[in-house]
Amino acid sequence: MVLDNGRGTGDFGNIRRVAMISVHTSPFATPGGKDAGGLNVYVRELSRQLGRRGIAVDVFTRRVAADMPDVVPVGDNVRIVYITAGPVAPLPKDDLFPYLGAFASEMALFGLRDGVSYDVIHSHYYLSGWVAHLLGRYWAAPVVQMFHTLGALKKDAARAVGAHDGHESRQRIEIERRLIGEVDAIVAANARERAEMTWWYGQHTPKIHDIPCGIDLDLFQPGDRAAARAALGFDAAPVLLFVGRIDPVKGLEFLLDGYAALRATWTDGSPPRLVIVGGDLTPAGLGDDLARIHAQAAAKGIADGITFAGSQPHERLPEYYNAADLVVVPSRYESFGLVAVEGMACGTPVVASRVGGLPYTVEDGINGFLMPYGAVDQLAAASAHVLRDPALWAHLSAGAITTAQRFGWEQVTERILALYRTVVAQRLAPVGGEIAVYAGD
Ligand code: UDP
Repeated sequence: MVLDNGRGTGDFGNIRRVAMISVHTSPFATPGGKDAGGLNVYVRELSRQLGRRGIAVDVFTRRVAADMPDVVPVGDNVRIVYITAGPVAPLPKDDLFPYLGAFASEMALFGLRDGVSYDVIHSHYYLSGWVAHLLGRYWAAPVVQMFHTLGALKKDAARAVGAHDGHESRQRIEIERRLIGEVDAIVAANARERAEMTWWYGQHTPKIHDIPCGIDLDLFQPGDRAAARAALGFDAAPVLLFVGRIDPVKGLEFLLDGYAALRATWTDGSPPRLVIVGGDLTPAGLGDDLARIHAQAAAKGIADGITFAGSQPHERLPEYYNAADLVVVPSRYESFGLVAVEGMACGTPVVASRVGGLPYTVEDGINGFLMPYGAVDQLAAASAHVLRDPALWAHLSAGAITTAQRFGWEQVTERILALYRTVVAQRLAPVGGEIAVYAGD
């Protein structure tokens, strides 16, 4: 079927140009800081994958420094477009809402100046969702939204462990509710996230599609473990690895308690070492967030067993995963949990909290072990079990490699593209006419 979609005549399934919106954090920022993690990696990789397939992708993000140019090409068919909205300086994401209208109108002006329009708007996090919602009307383009985290779930996860959440404003939850109602499609990382949207936001809608996050299986592969350990200067002690943003939702307190319990019961020679990748290192030593973790570890008498590696470029992580004996994901909440799958792709078993999306990737006794968030003794016991039993380790490692193959970018990009085609077709279909049926889920 061929329709005129106002952007030239073409097959209605033909996606030529996508506007990717990530207002609060640049997809090209180094992950592992406070506000750069899975969302950044996802947007960058998906944009590259689409670009390689010949689809033009403009990634819109907020200008936070005066020396940022307007447009930077970043690979095949992908450009990053810096938009001035609000002060040209880093701002906490909770302060950005008042500038979203300006962001949307600057994006519209960019489209006019550059003479481009977009077949699909794909927005990430609720702030970008709001911009997409404003622009979707102006451009008459369908909006695909990914929340990455939902305010209501983060708040609930914090409340469940008696923590102060502090951040999740009612305004955020209200905007998320409106977006769920109004955008053309929502990508949930798994069936649980879809069900949670229905439960917490009281909206049952067929427009929520579960499409998992992707990982780069060319980058994350099993490698020479001894060489990786030597390159990173690790000695013979077993290594537990944490990789992630230094954020309360990542459960580092739980990890410190679990690590202390593991050391207290360890009788097999040198005690395991805990390596923490993520957070800022400064010339003077540890940045504020890591210094706080270090002080907590010192108070528990375990600081000497912890290596703080700071944020690492994504491309360096395979070496860390290959050097580790276990990847630990102690989070209070994870929408998907890329780190668990990256570790598995390198053949390293995973010990993780049974929260959010982690049970969709980590399977007890297959590629690792799951435990309730905060179950300190279970974390210690499961880790000791895997570290002490080479046959179990080998079994979990093989299972981990198999699991990770389900999450390659090839499959994930095809499913995202199928969804783009569906939302375009739905917008273009005459009322009462036939529409293409998305068969991806
Ligand atoms: N990451 C990285 N370098 C670091 C720390 C993290 O490249 O120093 C990447 C990591 O490889 C993963 C992402 O940041 O791809 C974190 O994603 P995840 O889904 O685990 O957590 P999120 O940040 O979404 O909460």
